[in-house]
Amino acid sequence: MSFRATILTLYPEMFPGPLGVSLAGRALERGDWRIDTVNIREFGEGRHRLVDDTPAGGSPGMVLRADVLARAIDAAAPEGDARPRLLMSPRGRPLTQRQVREIAAGEGAVVVCGRFEGVDERVIEARGLIEVSIGDYILSGGEMAAMVLLDAAVRLLPGVMGNALSGDTESFEGGLLEHPHYTRPTIWEGREIPAVLRSGDHGAVERWRRAEAERITGERRPDLLTKSGGAAKAR
Ligand code: SAH
Repeated sequence: MSFRATILTLYPEMFPGPLGVSLAGRALERGDWRIDTVNIREFGEGRHRLVDDTPAGGSPGMVLRADVLARAIDAAAPEGDARPRLLMSPRGRPLTQRQVREIAAGEGAVVVCGRFEGVDERVIEARGLIEVSIGDYILSGGEMAAMVLLDAAVRLLPGVMGNALSGDTESFEGGLLEHPHYTRPTIWEGREIPAVLRSGDHGAVERWRRAEAERITGERRPDLLTKSGGAAKAR
């Protein structure tokens, strides 16, 4: 059974969007994964299909209704659907490569995209939604956040990435940011590719890459070194 993403959104026309091109798009065409959208609007109230209302307690903006969203979730992922139910939300735990791997290893995901000020808290509790953030900034809706999550997961699916090996040495995978890359021409605007990379000495290349990865991580993201046990955690 292939990986299946079900997206609950007020803007289904945004999908597959960028997920329909390049690596993810070709994998979609091959059937390595599937994406379905559910328009939350279809589960709205009354003739006007209303999906939101003013915040209890008063404040600007609107809130997605619990009853409307629950109907959409129940239609999209009936009981017994083993896929995790995610809610894209700036209040969630920031997405990590580890979490992306877990999602990619499963059957797929049901992803709820918020809009306005967010969603009624009760539907998060009642439907066991796991809030996931893609970073400490505010988007206007959860759709692009859902695309980020899916792009990261889909490239890990079996057969999707051309060079399977390139996945393991990438930034974060070993608790470090990746070493620099170079390609032809050998000299460009007076800048030369480091000699060690042209030496043919694979051991020396590995040591140089490791040292560069540690240097760059130390300079840019020292938090990663302490989190992972740092340089002591050899690959
Ligand atoms: N009032 C909310 C922000 C609402 S933004 C707050 O302050 O927490 C509208 C919707 O965009 C959210 O419901 C969520 O689905 C999405 N969104 C915004 N920023 C996001 C982020 N950093 N990560 C994931 N989703 C985000």
